[in-house]
Amino acid sequence: MSSTTVHWFRRDLRLKDNTALSLAHQKGNVLGLFIFDTNILDELEDRDDARVSFIHDSLTRLGTEIKKEGGALLVRQGDPIEVWKQLIAEFAIQAVFTNEDYEPYAGKRDQAVGELLQVKGISFTSVKDQVILAKDEVLKDDGKPYTVYTPYSRKWKTVLRESDLAERTYKPNWDNQISGERLSLEQIGFSKSNIQVDTPQIPEQIIRHYHETRDFPGLNGISHMSVHLRFGTISIRELFRQSRQWNEKYINELIWREFYQMILWHFPHVVTGSFKPAYDAIQWPNNEPWFQAWCEGRTGFPIVDAGMRELNATGFMHNRARMITASFLCKDLLIDWRLGEAYFARKLLDFDLASNNGGWQWAAGTGCDAAPYFRIFNPHEQARKFDPDGVYIRRWVAEFDSLTYPQPIVDHKVQREKALKMYMVGLGGIS
Ligand SMILES: Cc1cc2nc3c(=O)[nH]c(=O)nc-3n(C[C@H](O)[C@H](O)[C@H](O)COP(=O)(O)OP(=O)(O)OC[C@H]3O[C@@H](n4cnc5c(N)ncnc54)[C@H](O)[C@@H]3O)c2cc1C
Repeated sequence: MSSTTVHWFRRDLRLKDNTALSLAHQKGNVLGLFIFDTNILDELEDRDDARVSFIHDSLTRLGTEIKKEGGALLVRQGDPIEVWKQLIAEFAIQAVFTNEDYEPYAGKRDQAVGELLQVKGISFTSVKDQVILAKDEVLKDDGKPYTVYTPYSRKWKTVLRESDLAERTYKPNWDNQISGERLSLEQIGFSKSNIQVDTPQIPEQIIRHYHETRDFPGLNGISHMSVHLRFGTISIRELFRQSRQWNEKYINELIWREFYQMILWHFPHVVTGSFKPAYDAIQWPNNEPWFQAWCEGRTGFPIVDAGMRELNATGFMHNRARMITASFLCKDLLIDWRLGEAYFARKLLDFDLASNNGGWQWAAGTGCDAAPYFRIFNPHEQARKFDPDGVYIRRWVAEFDSLTYPQPIVDHKVQREKALKMYMVGLGGIS
């Protein structure tokens, strides 16, 4: 059997502009691999999880594209270490290529796989791909990581080189020893979700007007690229190369994504604790029925309920609604941000540990944000400003104009005062 080079697909479910894949093809005879990682799948609560369906669909498409180029995609299931032990026994593997993943679990997994391969004399190469500038490429002048977005983004733009954006191409050099494998959703213990994801199309016109439309959830004014960036069905370099010609504000949002990836890599304690550790002393009352009402979109605050119902129905929520619903959970319902973060993680198709955690800590005031905790969103004001004609609210809260719509479960003014006290006491009187 001739030796083979494996490209291990994870958050990069595409052939075009894929860094590790282009390197693998230079090495030779590439076999594509995806592992349904049971350490991740076993944690999912819903058997019809939309992300699993989306990955499955993307793998079918990827397998067809690889086949057209004369190769094959292997799809396996299990604990990655065990799967790799089987693969080493099955194939004469000379090298493995993959793209970096900055989540703490992924880091540990890759280290263990790398060590296993090294013992067998197989090289393991993991490279930057899912962000444009990673880890410690953008640092303060004193060599420390940034903790505030605005100076980070300024530095990011000065560090960027054209080569960081160049398309990664390859001349197909696939291994044709095997014919590929499929695992059906049922075989991995899942069923098809009702939620469908559109194929990635960069929406030029929306991006051109993004700065005017992005804050209004009733409009069709955002790009919906997040799920594709999450699973790598689009390349961040390609999106950046195109959109930089059209809209600076949009580029700044892509840099927010890089900022949170960088924060997660430098400060992994954010996965369980506050970015600012002093905030871990806050005592959250965590009223269970209120949490249920929030999850189900029955709080009696229309803009909050619209956001939560959008999330439950589609696996997506507009950014403005994410900010409002998250702030409402922490500062009106006095519920620990980590419970909300976990609910979003369960439901969001674009769930990404770094951005979700960053967004929640921003909303709770515990994160790397210049704004103080005592700036509290008023949900009624937010609705008046960003959904002035109630288009978004009526889209998701059908009974809004009827008597069946619930009364508010709390009084915003009262809760605001309670929240301020809760934060102040937790922080020992420090503001
Ligand atoms: C509480 C909360 C939780 C969030 N959880 C996630 C998450 O799990 N996954 C996720 O991708 N985004 C998350 N975000 C950020 C943001 O809401 C989404 O990226 C955005 O709504 C996705 O829609 P879009 O692709 O149409 O974005 P657009 O508005 O069209 O923006 C383009 C891209 O820029 C990036 N981006 C935009 N805003 C942000 C931001 N605030 N932080 C980081 N990246 C951003 C995304 O990659 C997005 O796809 C969260 C925000 C908050 C406030």
